[in-house]
Amino acid sequence: MNKPKMATEKGVPSNSRVLMLLGQLERMNSESMLRDVEMARQVTTKILHLIQTQEKSGKEVMSKGSSGMEVILASLEVISLQLMLFYSWFSVLGRGRRVGVFVSKGGTGILFQILITASKEFPPSEELMLQLHSLLAKVGPKDRKFGVKARLSGALNVTVNLMKQNLLNTKLLLPCLQVLRVYSTNSVNAVSLGKNGVVELMFKIVAPYSKKNTSLLKVALDALGALLKSKTNARRAVDRGFVSVLLALYLDWHRNDTRHRHMLIRKGLLVCLRNVTNIKVGRKAFLEADGMRILYNSSTECLPVRTLDPLINTSSLIMRKCFPKNRLPLATIKSAFHFQLPNVPAGGPVAQLYNQPPGVDDVVDESDDNEEPEADADTENDEDEKDHCSLNDDIETDLNKLHPKRTIGRSYEELKVYQRFFLELTEDFQVKDNLKAEDGSERVKQEGSPLNTTRHIQSPLLLGGIPTRRVGGGGSNWGSDCGSEGGEDESGEGAVLEVPDTAQLLPLHDPDLYVEMVKATCSVPQYAEVAYPDYFGHVAPTFKEPLLERVYGVQRSKIFQDIERLIHPNDILDKVVYDLDIPSCPVIEENGESLKFNSQFESGNLRKAVQVRKYEYDLVLNSDINSNHYHQWFYFEVSGMRVGTTYRFNIINCEKSNSQFNYGMQVLMYSVQEAISGRPCWVRTGTDICYYKNHFARSSIASGGQKGKSYYTMTFSINFSHKDDVCYFAYHYPYTYSTLKMHLSKLEDLRTPQIYLRQDELCETLSGNGCPLLTITAMPESKSNDHICQFRNRPLIFLSARVHPGETNASWVMKGTLEFLMGSSPLAVSLREAYIFKIVPMLNPDGVVNGNHRCSLSGEDLNRQWLNPNPEHHPTIYHTKSLLQYLAYTQRAPLVFCDYHGHSRKKNVFMYGCSVKETVWQSNISASSSDLQEDLGYRTLPKILSQIAPAFSMASSSFVVERSKESTARVVVWREIGVQRSYTMESTLCGCDQGKYKGLQIGTRELEEMGAQFCVALLRLKRLTGLHNHQHLLDLESDIIGTHSCTTTYLLEEDEPSFLEAIDYSAESNDEEAEPENELGCEVQENSEQLSDSETNHRD
Ligand SMILES: [Zn+2]
Repeated sequence: MNKPKMATEKGVPSNSRVLMLLGQLERMNSESMLRDVEMARQVTTKILHLIQTQEKSGKEVMSKGSSGMEVILASLEVISLQLMLFYSWFSVLGRGRRVGVFVSKGGTGILFQILITASKEFPPSEELMLQLHSLLAKVGPKDRKFGVKARLSGALNVTVNLMKQNLLNTKLLLPCLQVLRVYSTNSVNAVSLGKNGVVELMFKIVAPYSKKNTSLLKVALDALGALLKSKTNARRAVDRGFVSVLLALYLDWHRNDTRHRHMLIRKGLLVCLRNVTNIKVGRKAFLEADGMRILYNSSTECLPVRTLDPLINTSSLIMRKCFPKNRLPLATIKSAFHFQLPNVPAGGPVAQLYNQPPGVDDVVDESDDNEEPEADADTENDEDEKDHCSLNDDIETDLNKLHPKRTIGRSYEELKVYQRFFLELTEDFQVKDNLKAEDGSERVKQEGSPLNTTRHIQSPLLLGGIPTRRVGGGGSNWGSDCGSEGGEDESGEGAVLEVPDTAQLLPLHDPDLYVEMVKATCSVPQYAEVAYPDYFGHVAPTFKEPLLERVYGVQRSKIFQDIERLIHPNDILDKVVYDLDIPSCPVIEENGESLKFNSQFESGNLRKAVQVRKYEYDLVLNSDINSNHYHQWFYFEVSGMRVGTTYRFNIINCEKSNSQFNYGMQVLMYSVQEAISGRPCWVRTGTDICYYKNHFARSSIASGGQKGKSYYTMTFSINFSHKDDVCYFAYHYPYTYSTLKMHLSKLEDLRTPQIYLRQDELCETLSGNGCPLLTITAMPESKSNDHICQFRNRPLIFLSARVHPGETNASWVMKGTLEFLMGSSPLAVSLREAYIFKIVPMLNPDGVVNGNHRCSLSGEDLNRQWLNPNPEHHPTIYHTKSLLQYLAYTQRAPLVFCDYHGHSRKKNVFMYGCSVKETVWQSNISASSSDLQEDLGYRTLPKILSQIAPAFSMASSSFVVERSKESTARVVVWREIGVQRSYTMESTLCGCDQGKYKGLQIGTRELEEMGAQFCVALLRLKRLTGLHNHQHLLDLESDIIGTHSCTTTYLLEEDEPSFLEAIDYSAESNDEEAEPENELGCEVQENSEQLSDSETNHRD
C-alpha cells in the first residue's frame, strides 16, 4: 500500500477528535510503527467508535478529499483479524453510499487479502468468514473489477470450499452465495467456477423443490443463472440432465406458488433455462424434456395475472429459441421470375446466383444445426467497446476521398451526344415557333425496341363477375376494349355497377389512359391484368390516420399462436392457396373455405399464400428478380372473404431486423366496394400489427454468409366490411411505372404558352421500358437576346427519384414536385423563371414494374452503381450520370442535385448531404484547418425545408460521408460532378413524430405537399444565392444555421423509444433479452453477450 497522506481539508475543524486520532494512526503507519499492533488496534477502535457514535465524525472520515479511509485501510492490513473491526465496518458500510468511497480507496482488495489470510487458519473462524462474506456481498456490486480482483487474489476457491463444507449451514451459506453471485457475473470466473464443480453444487442447493429457505434459494438461482451464461457450464448442466431438473422444479413452483409470492424464484429458474438453451444441446434437451408443452401450458395459466408477465415473457423467449427451425415453404429462394440478361458478368451477383451447382438447397443451410461457437472467451474482452467502434466504422476517413474532385474522366467527344437533352441551352427560338412540337425522344440506344409491343389484356375488370361502368365516363368500359371477356360480362343484366370517374377528382388521373399505358409497359412475367386501385386511382382521404397505438402484449399473443402450431399440430391446415411457382397458379379451390389471392399485375408482389388455420394465412414474398432476397415490398389482391371474422395475415420472410410496423405503421388497403361507393382510396388499416423474429430458417446464402439466422414475421389482422369485395394490400401507396407515364402524359395538359416543358426518353431499360427525362422551365420572356441569354443562363436543378422500387413514397413526393412546377401559382412562375429543372422521375422502371423492392433486373441495387455504371447493365444510371458529366464538362453543373428516396425505419422527412467538415468531426482523423474550410451552403436547403415543410426534420438529417455510400448518387455527384448541394431526401414510410403531423401516419397528400415545399424551398434558396455578395450570403446562411450550429447529426437507425412491452426480435442462440436482470441491483455485467445486428444503418 502506498503511504497515505493525511490532509486536513478546508472546512474540517482541525481540532476534531477523530481527525486527531487519524493523524496519530497515519504517523504510526508511515513510521512503520505498526509493529505495535496493540497500539494501532486501540487507536483504530477509538476511531471506529467515534464514527459509529457520531454522525459528524463519520462524515469527516468518509468525505471526498479526505484520506481518512486510506489511513484506516492501511492499518487494517496489519490488524486484520481484529473481529471488532468488522462489526464496526459493517455498520459503517451499512450507511449506503459510503460503499462507493470504500471501493474507490481500494477496500475490496484489502478485504480479499484478509479473506485469504483468514482462510489459512485451521479451522477458519466461522464468524469471521461470515462477516467477511457479508461485507464482500455489499461491496461486490459496487466494484466493477470485483470479479477480476476475486480471481487474482484466489478468493474464488476460498468461498467455494467454504460452501462445500457448509452446505447445511444456511447462516454461512447465504452470504457466500451472495458473493458467488457477483463472482459469477464475470465470464472467466464462471468458467473457472464451473470447472470447480460449482454448477453441480448449485443444483444440490436448489433441488429438490422445497419452500424452506426461499431467500437462499433465490440467491442460489441467481448465481446459477449467471454461471449458465457460460457455454461450458451450460453444456455441463445438460450433460448432467439438469434441464429436466429445472423444468420439473419450475413446474413444482408453478403449481405450489399459488399466491405468487415467489415470482423471483420462478423467474430465476426460467433465467437458468433461458441461458442453458443458448446452446444447441440445451435446446435439444429442452425439447426432449417436453419443455415446450410445460412452458406453454404454464404460461397460458399465468396469462390472467398481469404481475406474472415477466414469467410469460421469459417463457416465450425460451420457447421461441427452442422452436425447431422450419423451412420456408419454397423450393428455392431465387425469384420466381427470371430475366435473361444480355450478358451475365462473370463473378457478378447473377452469375453467382445461377451458377450454384444443381441440387444445392438455397432455402436452408444443410448443416444449419451444427454451428455453435464451442469455447467460452477466456479473456476479459469488452464487447461493448467493440460495438461502439463499429458505429463509427463507416465514416469516410480518407481525406483524399473526402475532398470533392471533379473527375469527369470522359472526353467531350463521348459526352456530346447528350447535347440533345439540353436543347434549351442552345435553343434560339427564332425558327421554331411551335415549341410544343419538340420531340427529343430520339433514343440514345438502338432502335427497334420492344417498346411498341402491346400487351394483350386478358382479364377484364370484373367484380366477382359483375361488369362495371364508370359514372360519367364515356360509357367505354375498358373491359369491352379487350375483346377477351366472355359472355359472362354481358350476361350480368341489371347488375352493372357504376364506379366513380376518378378522372374528375384527380387532375392527373385517367383510367382509360392508364390502361393504354399498361399495354405499352413491358414486364418480365408479361402481366395482362390491371389492379383496380391503379385503374380507379387513389383520392387521399380527408380524415386523419393516427399512428396505431400498440396494444400491450400483442407480440406475445401472436408468438403464442405461433407456438401452438407445434403444440397442436393437428389444428394446422397447411393448405397452399396461391403459388407463383406452380404454372397453374393461382391455385384456387372453389369451396369458399379459402381466400383467393392474386399478385399478377404491375408492381405486384406475393409469391405464395398458405392457409395455416381457418382464418390465418402465411404469406411469402418474392425476391427481387435475379436475386434471392431484398423483398419487403408487397402488393396483392384478396377476394372471397367473409364478413364478421378476423383474418390474420403473416408475411413470414421479412429480412430486416426491425420495422416501423412495430412503431405505429399500418398496412394499406384498398377496397373495390368502397371505391365504387365513392371512396376510391388507400387507407391505413390492420390491427394487432407487429414484427418479430420467427422460426423460419434463413439460409446463409441469403444472409451474407451468416449461419443460423431467421426471418422475421410481419403480422396484421383484418376485419373485412364487405361481402364479395376485392381488396388490395400494399406496403405503401402503390405508384406504378404506368401511373408515372399517365401522370407525365397528363402534365402536358397543364402546359401554358409560358411554360417550357420537354419530355425526352433518356434511354431504354433492360426490359425495354423507356426512362423519361423532363425539362421544365419558363419560356423566355421574348425572343430578345437578353431574354434568351437569361433563359439559357438559369441555374440547373437536377432531381431524380425511385431508384429503389419499394420506396413508392419517393414517387408521390416527385408527383408533388412535378405538379407544383407545372402549376400556375406565382411561386411556380417565379421558380420556372429562376431555374431549369432536369428531372428523371423514375430511375428504376423495371424494378417498379416487376414488383421488386430494391434492385433492377440485373439483381443489383442501382444506387450502388454510380461510381462505375455499366451502360448495358445499368443504363438509367449510366445515362443519368452522363447527363451530369456533360453539364460538368460544359461548366453547367447543377446548383442542387437531389435524389428522392423512402426510409423504412425512421419517421419524418429528412436529408443526407455531404460535408467534409462534419465528416471529420465525427471521426478521429486529424485534418489541417485548410481541409476544413467549407462553405456552409449545403445546410441551407434542408434548413429552409425544416422551416417550411411540416414533415421535414433537420434533426434527422445528416451530412456525414460514409464509406458504404461512396457509390450512391449523392456522394458521386458531390465528389465527381462537384455539386456542393448534393442530397438524398428520405421520406418516411410511416409517419411523423414532430411538427404539424406529429402522431400521424403519412399519406399521399403529405408526401405531395413535401414535393411542393421542396420547390418553394428552392425559390428561397434562389433569393439567398441571388444576393451577389457572397460573403453576405455566407452570413445569411450561417444565420439560418445559427440555431443548429453545434449539432451535426449522425444518427443510427434504431432511434425509436422502447415500449412498455419489451420488443424482442431476437430469439437466436446468442442473443440476450433486452431487459436487464434487475434483481442484482447494480450488478456489474462484465461480459455482455449481446450481439449487434450488423445491418447497414441509414440507407440511400
Ligand atoms: Zn432508397
